Amino acid sequence: MKAVRLHAYHQQPVIEDVPEPQAKEPFDVVVKIGGAGVCRTDLHIIEEQWAEKSGVTLPYTIGHENAGWVHEIGPGVTNVAVGDTVILHPTPTCGLCHACRAGNDMHCENSVFPGIDSDGGMAEYLLTSARACIKLDPSTQPADVAALADAGITAYHAVRKAVPQLYPGTVCVVNGAGGLGHIGIQSLRALTAATVVVVDRNAEALELAAELGADHTVQADGKQVDAVLDLTGGNGAEVVLDFVAEQGAQQDAFAMTRRNGSHFVIGYGSNIDIPTIDIISTERNVIGNLVGTYNDLVELMVLAQAGKVTLHTKKYPLDAALDALADLDAGRVRGRAILTP
Ligand SMILES: [Zn+2]
Ligand SMILES: [Zn+2]
Repeated sequence: MKAVRLHAYHQQPVIEDVPEPQAKEPFDVVVKIGGAGVCRTDLHIIEEQWAEKSGVTLPYTIGHENAGWVHEIGPGVTNVAVGDTVILHPTPTCGLCHACRAGNDMHCENSVFPGIDSDGGMAEYLLTSARACIKLDPSTQPADVAALADAGITAYHAVRKAVPQLYPGTVCVVNGAGGLGHIGIQSLRALTAATVVVVDRNAEALELAAELGADHTVQADGKQVDAVLDLTGGNGAEVVLDFVAEQGAQQDAFAMTRRNGSHFVIGYGSNIDIPTIDIISTERNVIGNLVGTYNDLVELMVLAQAGKVTLHTKKYPLDAALDALADLDAGRVRGRAILTP
Protein backbone atom coordinates (compact mmCIF):
# COMPACT_ATOMS: atom_id res chain seq x y z
CA MET A 1 0.00 0.00 0.00
CA LYS A 2 0.98 3.65 -0.39
CA ALA A 3 2.11 5.55 2.73
CA VAL A 4 3.60 8.95 3.61
CA ARG A 5 6.86 8.07 5.38
CA LEU A 6 9.35 10.25 7.23
CA HIS A 7 12.91 9.03 6.57
CA ALA A 8 14.91 11.91 8.05
CA TYR A 9 14.17 14.98 10.18
CA HIS A 10 14.24 18.37 8.45
CA GLN A 11 13.48 16.65 5.12
CA GLN A 12 10.14 16.17 3.37
CA PRO A 13 8.42 12.78 3.86
CA VAL A 14 8.45 10.29 0.99
CA ILE A 15 5.39 8.61 -0.55
CA GLU A 16 6.28 4.95 -1.02
CA ASP A 17 4.98 1.36 -0.99
CA VAL A 18 4.96 -0.55 2.31
CA PRO A 19 3.29 -3.83 3.42
CA GLU A 20 -0.35 -3.58 4.62
CA PRO A 21 -0.83 -3.98 8.40
CA GLN A 22 -2.63 -7.11 9.67
CA ALA A 23 -4.89 -7.77 12.69
CA LYS A 24 -2.75 -10.23 14.68
CA GLU A 25 -3.66 -9.56 18.34
CA PRO A 26 -7.19 -10.28 19.72
CA PHE A 27 -8.27 -6.61 19.86
CA ASP A 28 -6.48 -5.38 16.73
CA VAL A 29 -8.52 -3.52 14.14
CA VAL A 30 -7.24 -2.61 10.66
CA VAL A 31 -9.01 0.41 9.20
CA LYS A 32 -9.15 1.31 5.50
CA ILE A 33 -8.42 5.03 5.68
CA GLY A 34 -11.08 7.32 4.20
CA GLY A 35 -9.53 10.57 5.44
CA ALA A 36 -6.35 11.58 7.27
CA GLY A 37 -6.02 15.10 8.67
CA VAL A 38 -2.87 17.15 8.05
CA CYS A 39 -1.83 18.85 11.26
CA ARG A 40 0.70 21.41 12.45
CA THR A 41 2.04 18.57 14.61
CA ASP A 42 3.14 16.85 11.37
CA LEU A 43 5.26 19.92 10.61
CA HIS A 44 6.61 19.86 14.18
CA ILE A 45 7.44 16.14 13.77
CA ILE A 46 9.43 16.91 10.60
CA GLU A 47 11.17 19.74 12.52
CA GLU A 48 12.32 17.10 15.06
CA GLN A 49 10.34 18.66 17.94
CA TRP A 50 8.83 15.29 18.90
CA ALA A 51 11.89 13.07 18.29
CA GLU A 52 12.97 12.75 21.91
CA LYS A 53 9.47 12.65 23.45
CA SER A 54 8.11 10.01 21.05
CA GLY A 55 11.29 7.93 20.73
CA VAL A 56 10.08 6.87 17.28
CA THR A 57 12.40 4.99 14.94
CA LEU A 58 12.63 6.35 11.38
CA PRO A 59 11.36 5.68 8.80
CA TYR A 60 7.69 5.63 9.78
CA THR A 61 4.28 6.66 8.49
CA ILE A 62 2.88 9.96 9.85
CA GLY A 63 -0.81 10.90 10.24
CA HIS A 64 -2.69 10.89 13.55
CA GLU A 65 -6.20 12.20 12.61
CA ASN A 66 -7.90 9.25 11.04
CA ALA A 67 -11.30 7.93 9.99
CA GLY A 68 -12.37 5.21 7.58
CA TRP A 69 -13.99 1.80 7.38
CA VAL A 70 -13.17 -1.36 9.39
CA HIS A 71 -11.23 -3.67 7.10
CA GLU A 72 -10.13 -6.54 9.37
CA ILE A 73 -10.69 -7.39 13.08
CA GLY A 74 -8.89 -9.57 15.60
CA PRO A 75 -10.77 -12.55 17.16
CA GLY A 76 -11.66 -10.65 20.38
CA VAL A 77 -13.29 -7.62 18.72
CA THR A 78 -17.06 -7.32 19.30
CA ASN A 79 -17.79 -3.56 19.21
CA VAL A 80 -17.20 -3.07 15.48
CA ALA A 81 -17.54 -5.29 12.42
CA VAL A 82 -15.90 -5.32 8.99
CA GLY A 83 -17.43 -2.53 6.87
CA ASP A 84 -18.40 -0.24 9.77
CA THR A 85 -17.66 3.48 9.35
CA VAL A 86 -15.41 4.60 12.21
CA ILE A 87 -13.50 7.57 13.53
CA LEU A 88 -10.48 6.71 15.67
CA HIS A 89 -9.46 8.05 19.04
CA PRO A 90 -5.78 8.83 18.39
CA THR A 91 -4.44 6.45 21.06
CA PRO A 92 -5.24 2.74 21.27
CA THR A 93 -5.22 2.35 25.08
CA CYS A 94 -4.92 -0.64 27.45
CA GLY A 95 -8.20 -0.21 29.34
CA LEU A 96 -6.65 -1.66 32.51
CA CYS A 97 -4.43 1.02 34.06
CA HIS A 98 -5.57 3.68 36.57
CA ALA A 99 -5.75 6.43 33.93
CA CYS A 100 -7.81 4.27 31.57
CA ARG A 101 -10.24 3.33 34.35
CA ALA A 102 -10.61 7.05 35.17
CA GLY A 103 -11.34 7.79 31.51
CA ASN A 104 -8.09 9.72 31.03
CA ASP A 105 -7.23 8.00 27.77
CA MET A 106 -4.33 10.30 26.91
CA HIS A 107 -2.53 9.32 30.10
CA CYS A 108 -2.75 5.53 29.64
CA GLU A 109 0.47 3.90 30.85
CA ASN A 110 0.49 1.37 27.99
CA SER A 111 -0.77 3.18 24.92
CA VAL A 112 0.72 3.88 21.52
CA PHE A 113 0.10 6.98 19.41
CA PRO A 114 -0.01 6.01 15.72
CA GLY A 115 1.42 8.80 13.58
CA ILE A 116 3.54 10.10 16.48
CA ASP A 117 5.41 7.09 17.92
CA SER A 118 4.36 4.34 15.46
CA ASP A 119 2.94 3.99 11.93
CA GLY A 120 0.04 6.39 11.36
CA GLY A 121 -2.81 6.95 8.94
CA MET A 122 -1.39 8.84 5.96
CA ALA A 123 -1.65 5.53 4.16
CA GLU A 124 -4.26 3.22 2.68
CA TYR A 125 -4.60 1.15 5.90
CA LEU A 126 -3.92 1.73 9.62
CA LEU A 127 -3.54 -0.71 12.53
CA THR A 128 -5.45 0.39 15.66
CA SER A 129 -7.45 -1.32 18.43
CA ALA A 130 -11.09 -1.95 19.31
CA ARG A 131 -10.91 0.60 22.16
CA ALA A 132 -10.00 3.41 19.74
CA CYS A 133 -12.97 2.88 17.38
CA ILE A 134 -16.09 5.03 17.49
CA LYS A 135 -18.75 3.67 15.17
CA LEU A 136 -20.43 6.32 13.01
CA ASP A 137 -23.62 6.52 11.00
CA PRO A 138 -22.86 4.67 7.72
CA SER A 139 -23.81 7.79 5.73
CA THR A 140 -20.86 9.69 7.26
CA GLN A 141 -17.99 10.39 4.86
CA PRO A 142 -14.75 9.70 6.80
CA ALA A 143 -12.92 12.50 4.94
CA ASP A 144 -15.47 15.02 6.24
CA VAL A 145 -14.83 14.15 9.90
CA ALA A 146 -11.27 12.72 10.08
CA ALA A 147 -9.70 15.85 11.60
CA LEU A 148 -12.20 15.78 14.46
CA ALA A 149 -10.08 12.81 15.68
CA ASP A 150 -7.30 15.17 16.78
CA ALA A 151 -7.84 18.82 15.88
CA GLY A 152 -11.49 18.58 16.85
CA ILE A 153 -11.14 16.51 20.02
CA THR A 154 -8.30 18.76 21.24
CA ALA A 155 -10.35 21.93 20.84
CA TYR A 156 -13.44 20.27 22.34
CA HIS A 157 -11.49 18.91 25.35
CA ALA A 158 -10.27 22.42 26.26
CA VAL A 159 -13.76 23.91 25.88
CA ARG A 160 -15.26 21.06 27.93
CA LYS A 161 -12.76 21.74 30.74
CA ALA A 162 -13.48 25.50 30.60
CA VAL A 163 -17.30 25.16 30.71
CA PRO A 164 -17.65 25.62 34.51
CA GLN A 165 -15.82 28.96 34.22
CA LEU A 166 -17.84 30.17 31.23
CA TYR A 167 -21.16 30.99 32.89
CA PRO A 168 -23.40 33.60 31.19
CA GLY A 169 -21.78 37.04 31.23
CA THR A 170 -18.22 35.76 30.85
CA VAL A 171 -15.86 36.24 27.91
CA CYS A 172 -13.78 33.58 26.17
CA VAL A 173 -10.96 34.55 23.82
CA VAL A 174 -10.12 32.13 21.03
CA ASN A 175 -6.53 32.95 20.05
CA GLY A 176 -6.10 31.48 16.54
CA ALA A 177 -9.01 30.52 14.27
CA GLY A 178 -7.31 27.79 12.22
CA GLY A 179 -7.90 24.03 12.19
CA LEU A 180 -8.46 23.78 15.96
CA GLY A 181 -9.77 27.26 16.64
CA HIS A 182 -12.72 27.00 14.26
CA ILE A 183 -13.86 23.83 16.07
CA GLY A 184 -13.31 25.60 19.41
CA ILE A 185 -15.64 28.45 18.38
CA GLN A 186 -18.42 26.05 17.41
CA SER A 187 -17.94 23.98 20.59
CA LEU A 188 -18.19 27.16 22.69
CA ARG A 189 -21.43 28.07 20.87
CA ALA A 190 -22.84 24.60 21.49
CA LEU A 191 -21.81 24.29 25.17
CA THR A 192 -21.80 27.82 26.66
CA ALA A 193 -23.45 31.25 26.61
CA ALA A 194 -20.08 33.06 26.90
CA THR A 195 -19.21 36.01 24.66
CA VAL A 196 -16.69 34.68 22.12
CA VAL A 197 -13.83 36.96 20.99
CA VAL A 198 -11.65 35.56 18.19
CA VAL A 199 -8.12 36.80 17.52
CA ASP A 200 -6.20 35.89 14.34
CA ARG A 201 -3.71 37.50 11.97
CA ASN A 202 -5.64 36.38 8.91
CA ALA A 203 -8.69 38.36 7.72
CA GLU A 204 -10.24 35.31 5.99
CA ALA A 205 -9.92 33.24 9.18
CA LEU A 206 -11.75 36.03 11.04
CA GLU A 207 -14.51 36.04 8.40
CA LEU A 208 -14.97 32.30 8.92
CA ALA A 209 -14.95 32.86 12.71
CA ALA A 210 -17.75 35.43 12.40
CA GLU A 211 -19.79 33.03 10.24
CA LEU A 212 -19.35 30.34 12.90
CA GLY A 213 -20.72 32.57 15.64
CA ALA A 214 -17.88 34.70 17.05
CA ASP A 215 -19.34 37.77 18.80
CA HIS A 216 -16.23 39.89 18.13
CA THR A 217 -13.22 39.42 15.87
CA VAL A 218 -9.85 41.08 16.45
CA GLN A 219 -7.08 41.23 13.87
CA ALA A 220 -3.73 40.32 15.43
CA ASP A 221 -1.82 43.36 14.14
CA GLY A 222 0.29 44.05 17.23
CA LYS A 223 -2.52 45.78 19.16
CA GLN A 224 -4.57 42.65 19.88
CA VAL A 225 -3.99 42.64 23.65
CA ASP A 226 -5.25 46.24 23.92
CA ALA A 227 -8.23 45.38 21.72
CA VAL A 228 -9.23 42.48 23.99
CA LEU A 229 -8.78 44.64 27.11
CA ASP A 230 -10.99 47.33 25.48
CA LEU A 231 -13.70 44.74 24.80
CA THR A 232 -13.62 43.55 28.43
CA GLY A 233 -13.66 46.82 30.36
CA GLY A 234 -9.90 46.65 30.84
CA ASN A 235 -10.14 43.32 32.72
CA GLY A 236 -9.33 40.61 30.19
CA ALA A 237 -11.26 37.41 29.58
CA GLU A 238 -12.23 34.74 32.12
CA VAL A 239 -10.87 32.12 29.72
CA VAL A 240 -8.30 32.40 26.93
CA LEU A 241 -7.92 29.37 24.67
CA ASP A 242 -4.51 29.74 23.02
CA PHE A 243 -4.50 27.63 19.88
CA VAL A 244 -1.28 29.28 18.64
CA ALA A 245 1.12 29.40 21.63
CA GLU A 246 4.17 30.32 19.57
CA GLN A 247 5.86 33.40 18.12
CA GLY A 248 4.66 35.63 20.98
CA ALA A 249 1.00 34.58 20.93
CA GLN A 250 1.56 32.70 24.20
CA GLN A 251 2.60 35.92 25.97
CA ASP A 252 -0.41 37.76 24.52
CA ALA A 253 -2.72 35.01 25.72
CA PHE A 254 -1.61 35.39 29.33
CA ALA A 255 -1.90 39.19 29.07
CA MET A 256 -5.49 38.81 27.80
CA THR A 257 -6.47 36.64 30.82
CA ARG A 258 -8.47 38.26 33.60
CA ARG A 259 -7.58 38.06 37.30
CA ASN A 260 -8.48 34.58 38.58
CA GLY A 261 -8.99 33.52 34.95
CA SER A 262 -7.52 30.61 33.03
CA HIS A 263 -5.09 30.57 30.12
CA PHE A 264 -5.39 27.23 28.31
CA VAL A 265 -2.26 26.27 26.36
CA ILE A 266 -3.36 24.19 23.36
CA GLY A 267 -0.99 25.14 20.55
CA TYR A 268 2.73 24.83 21.20
CA GLY A 269 6.17 25.70 19.90
CA SER A 270 7.51 28.54 22.11
CA ASN A 271 8.19 29.10 25.82
CA ILE A 272 5.97 31.05 28.20
CA ASP A 273 7.85 33.56 30.32
CA ILE A 274 5.70 34.79 33.21
CA PRO A 275 6.99 36.35 36.43
CA THR A 276 5.76 34.08 39.24
CA ILE A 277 4.64 37.18 41.16
CA ASP A 278 2.13 37.83 38.34
CA ILE A 279 0.76 34.30 38.69
CA ILE A 280 0.24 34.52 42.44
CA SER A 281 -0.82 38.17 42.70
CA THR A 282 -3.54 37.76 40.08
CA GLU A 283 -4.25 34.07 40.75
CA ARG A 284 -4.25 33.31 37.03
CA ASN A 285 -4.02 29.66 35.92
CA VAL A 286 -1.97 28.29 33.06
CA ILE A 287 -3.51 24.98 32.00
CA GLY A 288 -2.06 22.34 29.70
CA ASN A 289 -4.15 20.34 27.23
CA LEU A 290 -3.32 17.06 25.56
CA VAL A 291 -5.78 15.93 22.87
CA GLY A 292 -8.88 14.59 24.69
CA THR A 293 -10.64 11.55 26.05
CA TYR A 294 -12.49 8.87 24.12
CA ASN A 295 -15.73 10.26 25.59
CA ASP A 296 -14.82 13.78 24.41
CA LEU A 297 -14.65 12.40 20.87
CA VAL A 298 -17.96 10.55 21.31
CA GLU A 299 -19.62 13.81 22.46
CA LEU A 300 -18.05 15.81 19.64
CA MET A 301 -19.36 13.30 17.10
CA VAL A 302 -22.87 13.80 18.53
CA LEU A 303 -22.49 17.54 17.85
CA ALA A 304 -21.00 16.85 14.39
CA GLN A 305 -23.76 14.43 13.37
CA ALA A 306 -26.37 16.97 14.58
CA GLY A 307 -24.75 19.62 12.36
CA LYS A 308 -23.74 21.76 15.36
CA VAL A 309 -20.01 21.44 14.64
CA THR A 310 -18.85 21.44 11.04
CA LEU A 311 -15.31 20.84 9.94
CA HIS A 312 -14.19 23.10 7.11
CA THR A 313 -11.88 21.04 4.94
CA LYS A 314 -9.67 21.23 1.88
CA LYS A 315 -9.16 17.76 0.39
CA TYR A 316 -5.99 16.46 -1.28
CA PRO A 317 -5.25 13.00 -2.74
CA LEU A 318 -2.69 11.00 -0.70
CA ASP A 319 -0.16 11.57 -3.51
CA ALA A 320 -0.40 15.34 -2.87
CA ALA A 321 0.58 15.03 0.82
CA LEU A 322 3.62 17.26 0.33
CA ASP A 323 1.44 20.00 -1.22
CA ALA A 324 -0.92 19.80 1.75
CA LEU A 325 1.99 20.11 4.23
CA ALA A 326 3.41 23.06 2.26
CA ASP A 327 0.01 24.80 2.11
CA LEU A 328 -0.43 24.36 5.87
CA ASP A 329 3.07 25.68 6.54
CA ALA A 330 2.41 28.74 4.34
CA GLY A 331 -0.97 29.50 5.97
CA ARG A 332 -2.92 28.69 2.78
CA VAL A 333 -5.39 26.24 4.41
CA ARG A 334 -8.70 27.55 5.82
CA GLY A 335 -10.05 24.99 8.27
CA ARG A 336 -8.28 21.65 7.82
CA ALA A 337 -6.36 19.88 5.03
CA ILE A 338 -7.46 16.24 4.59
CA LEU A 339 -5.70 13.49 2.62
CA THR A 340 -7.93 10.96 0.89
CA PRO A 341 -6.20 7.72 -0.19
ZN1 LIG B 1 -3.12 16.76 14.91
ZN1 LIG C 1 -4.28 2.24 30.11
